[in-house]
Amino acid sequence: MNMQNESWFDRPDQTELRDRLRAERRHWLVTGAAGFIGSNLVESLLKLDQKVTGLDNFATGHAYNLKHVESCVGDKFGNFTLIEGDIRDSGTCVTAMEDVDVVLHQAALGSVPRSIEDPRTSHDVNVTGFLNILDAARQAGVQSFVYAASSSTYGDEPQLPKIEDRIGNPLSPYAATKLFDEIYADIYRRTYEFSSVGLRYFNVFGPRQDPQGAYAAVIPKWTDLMIDGEPITINGDGETSRDFCFVDNAVQANLRAGLAQLRGSNEVVNVAVGQRTTLNELFAQIRDELAKYQIVYDKDPVYGEFRRGDVRHSLASIDKGRDLLGYSPTHTIVTGLETAMPWYVEERRRVIAEYEG
Ligand code: NAD
Repeated sequence: MNMQNESWFDRPDQTELRDRLRAERRHWLVTGAAGFIGSNLVESLLKLDQKVTGLDNFATGHAYNLKHVESCVGDKFGNFTLIEGDIRDSGTCVTAMEDVDVVLHQAALGSVPRSIEDPRTSHDVNVTGFLNILDAARQAGVQSFVYAASSSTYGDEPQLPKIEDRIGNPLSPYAATKLFDEIYADIYRRTYEFSSVGLRYFNVFGPRQDPQGAYAAVIPKWTDLMIDGEPITINGDGETSRDFCFVDNAVQANLRAGLAQLRGSNEVVNVAVGQRTTLNELFAQIRDELAKYQIVYDKDPVYGEFRRGDVRHSLASIDKGRDLLGYSPTHTIVTGLETAMPWYVEERRRVIAEYEG
């Protein structure tokens, strides 16, 4: 079997989840549907015969992500409806909840540096927008509410691995917004008995993650720079480490959380692999993976300043996810890079051809 064409939910340890989903058609609302993680959620849900509504204002998402989803799912794209709108508008959030069973709330402005540049907009979208969606979901009485939290919430807590109930002080406006979301989710449980699951993502990567712009994530950015033969600057000494998580793992965690019957509780759960990779190791892994496509990158990295607001090391305990949700990552960083690389290479070639043509 060609592993690259196999969906994560067809793996033997995931078929029980797949069959449970296919047995009942639910209506899912995915906010941030045109973004990286959101579009991957839409793709898997449609492949699993679910009905999906997407909500996005295209602030950082792209229509071509949804076009790409359409090319991956074929006729099943007919089960998808897009609402173009802003989560800062409470009326839009109420409309989006119509007949929805499960909410997967992804819409937010990501990136620590972006939040340092413009903390007010990050707050408006990530906190006020979050509250609008949370409250609309409560009023609509949805079955299940899952939202994108962040490993940045661990802040200056030094202990590794990171365990859900032990957090430090947030180190950036972005981290503060994500902590506020967790606080609101807990207040809604206490005040209204409204249950939710916050998924603390740890550096998610994979197809459709935007390589462009000042706030691009490290893996798509470095991959494009290597393909173009451009110099790469590592922030700091390269020994900063992260628990890089392939997007299929994050999709699995969302679907499991969406089906979990956690009445009356408010949970936060790490979504990662439980393996730590330094930036120096990552540099070598991307370079070696590209070599399989006859793309040879022979430059050494340049070392720059440490980046403000960054945590030094990140490594998750994924025990809670396993115990509570049955979460079991299907990909490591190595197999995730192997799976994602054809998309990165093809996408870069498409962009270059478009630019030259
Ligand atoms: P992304 O930028 O690709 O997707 C976010 C989507 O939300 C975009 O499509 C964007 O247009 C949309 N959006 C932004 N503001 C909006 C608004 N006001 N109204 C409606 N839609 C809006 O980012 P992503 O990496 O897919 O991140 C998804 C979620 O996961 C975010 O909440 C992010 O904070 C969180 N997260 C991501 C990572 C990661 O490594 N990618 C890590 C931790 C947390």
